[in-house]
Amino acid sequence: MCKDKNNFKALKRYGQNFLIDDNILNIIISSSDLNNDDVILEIGPGHGVLTRKLLSNNIKFVHAVEIDTRFKSDLDSLESDHENLKVNYFDAMKFNYLELDPVPNKIIANIPYNITTPLIWKLLGFGFKNFILMVQEESALRITAPKNTKLRYPLGIAIEASGRAEIIKKVSRKCFRPVPKVNSAILKIEINKNFDLVKNSCWNKFLHEAFKFRRKKLTNNLNNLSMEILQNLEISPDTRAENLSCEQWVKLFKIFEMPK
Ligand code: SAH
Repeated sequence: MCKDKNNFKALKRYGQNFLIDDNILNIIISSSDLNNDDVILEIGPGHGVLTRKLLSNNIKFVHAVEIDTRFKSDLDSLESDHENLKVNYFDAMKFNYLELDPVPNKIIANIPYNITTPLIWKLLGFGFKNFILMVQEESALRITAPKNTKLRYPLGIAIEASGRAEIIKKVSRKCFRPVPKVNSAILKIEINKNFDLVKNSCWNKFLHEAFKFRRKKLTNNLNNLSMEILQNLEISPDTRAENLSCEQWVKLFKIFEMPK
């Protein structure tokens, strides 16, 4: 059991590692390019260190979604000091983001690491386009992994096909309490094209299907993949999922999606 100086027991199952480094908080803020029209969504505010920083800038509104009601006393006082903050006590994986008013245009958060990939998929599915996220370093490396690398995976391809992801800064695990086993990174994600594709759940399913057995050839994972299709897209029959470019993935998906 790990308790902080206020005798707060951090819960592992909620990925509770609290940011304690003011420099890192300032880097998150400076990379977020804040302006007075910004409506921000923060997932997992915890004690509210980042929330407080966000609110000290000239922005329009902050919506926060927090699963653990033990933070209510911290966040209640922040809410009563700031009319432009609304905290929703809910599971971010089940929350209906369409009900948020005003509509958020940026997601800025130190998110729970145990749900990083499904949470980003979910938020992309709701059409969010700008993200500054603190994630586990390994997740940041996977999301930004280029083709022909072992870390390449479906979410990274989907983001590349619709925009870009960039590591802003690697962050030592010592910047958090309790100190986690792994390092972190600030990741910027921007969605700026193929807006319908990134929200399409069939695209998500298709990429997962293709990566199911990543060591196997693509032809083993995708049943309907004919030699003709491979030749048209100039893909060698020995190719594995990690070897395809994002353009090839998009073309392949369009072929699979077409009514037969
Ligand atoms: N942003 C804070 C806390 C980060 S720890 C800081 O930087 O200090 C991750 C936070 O996400 C915790 O507050 C945890 O309770 C919350 N959390 C974990 N799972 C969640 C979920 N499914 N939905 C919403 N919040 C969640």
